[in-house]
Amino acid sequence: MALMTGEEYIQSLKKMKTKVYLMGELVEDFTNHPMIRPSINSVAATYDLAQQKEYENVMTAVSNITGERVNRFCHLHQSTEDLKNKVKMQRLLGQKTASCFQRCVGMDAFNSIFSTTFEIDEKYGTTYHERFKKYMKFVQDNDLTVDGAMTDPKGDRGLAPHQQADLDLYLRVVEQREDGIIVRGAKAHQTGAVNSHEHLIMPTMAMGENDKEYAVSFSIPSDAPGILMIYGRQSCDIRKLEDGHIDVGNPKFGGQEALVVFNDVFIPNERIYLNGENEFAGVLVERFAGYHRQSYGGCKVGVGDALIGAAALAAEYNGVTRASHIKDKLIEMTHLNETLYACGLACSTEGVATKAGNYQIDLLLANVCKQNVTRFPYEISRLAEDIAGGLMVTMPSDIDFKHPIVGEYCNKYFIGNSKVPVENRQKVLRFIENLTLGASAVGYRTESMHGAGSPQAQRVMIARQGNIEGKKQLVKDLTGIKE
Ligand code: SF4
Ligand code: FE
Repeated sequence: MALMTGEEYIQSLKKMKTKVYLMGELVEDFTNHPMIRPSINSVAATYDLAQQKEYENVMTAVSNITGERVNRFCHLHQSTEDLKNKVKMQRLLGQKTASCFQRCVGMDAFNSIFSTTFEIDEKYGTTYHERFKKYMKFVQDNDLTVDGAMTDPKGDRGLAPHQQADLDLYLRVVEQREDGIIVRGAKAHQTGAVNSHEHLIMPTMAMGENDKEYAVSFSIPSDAPGILMIYGRQSCDIRKLEDGHIDVGNPKFGGQEALVVFNDVFIPNERIYLNGENEFAGVLVERFAGYHRQSYGGCKVGVGDALIGAAALAAEYNGVTRASHIKDKLIEMTHLNETLYACGLACSTEGVATKAGNYQIDLLLANVCKQNVTRFPYEISRLAEDIAGGLMVTMPSDIDFKHPIVGEYCNKYFIGNSKVPVENRQKVLRFIENLTLGASAVGYRTESMHGAGSPQAQRVMIARQGNIEGKKQLVKDLTGIKE
């Protein structure tokens, strides 16, 4: 079963006993909950597109571990070509779902843990890398969706993990046993947590000597005893509970985040990949963050394509396609969006082989990529709202458009270009609203800011990698300055 279909994926989720709370209720069948299902559809698209011949090269790859063709989301990158194809795959899925399709966090965790465990073993003679290879075989053979989980709740940001008033604010090992460990804590903002078969845990930041019990990495099935999830709210999310789908904006797809709580969960030895070797926590974080910052040069660009398309359609339906300022705004949106893509491709092209053999992006360029993502989607959204017009936020509900008394007025007064049905205008304006202010704004706007690390995190890395000393030397050489 190296490649599942979307339907098989959904059926596989149904077999799980994942414990998820949503708006105060323990959800019985989360796969059919109207607020959760769109996010499942987005993950299902990662399976369905991999079945299509035309996308084979982008969506799948031949595994270095099994020799089988696997979904690229389960693949360890073997070349810069693989790194570029990863970005292309993410752009494609962004275009097809206009939302976060969630499966990248696992792929980024696989690649960072694979290379880091190799280096831990090299130093300590441990066997984490072999264990992790076995885990990767299991993931690839079963085409699993895995939540690569990094972000801890973090409590008081001015204090180290061991200084917190509540020691569980960073996920930690509370007991070392002969056969494994017991962990307690939580992972916050977990993308696709409920829709994942497995969780792959990493530390949230570099850990010092006093925080060794927080330097831990392991994998665990999402429905293991002691794990529960609390689903995150999204703007306008209860529109998904209404009949009819126009007001949702993006009727089929969506993203998902959850708080994942670990209440004294047992992790057997064979699933532990870091346990107290604290100096490797920072290495792992840097690599995962780098890969995920590259990812944003793909997924956000694909969603940007959909938003630019929507703005162009809105202009058409408003009858203003010939206005030169509209043409110029669409050019500006395209320029910004393609700049992000260029960054995603650049950090991939400049990728290098790790000691373990898989490929890693250029860290400086990946951080530049994500830094741009903290800005450009905001400008693209601003221009989309400019083109859409105020009706995007003042339009009556779809129920009113179909109402026996007021429907007539809605349809009469909200017509734009008379050749275009009002419903098309409704749909496209709601779609823009969804991406800029509604549920998908989680993925396109705020996640562009904070996902894969907030802007300051990239600036720290840019400072570290920017080689200012080397640049000063260039000038000394050019001008003949001798110190
Ligand atoms: Fe993938 Fe983008 Fe969602 Fe991250 S934010 S999981 S890269 S779609
Ligand atoms: Fe993300």
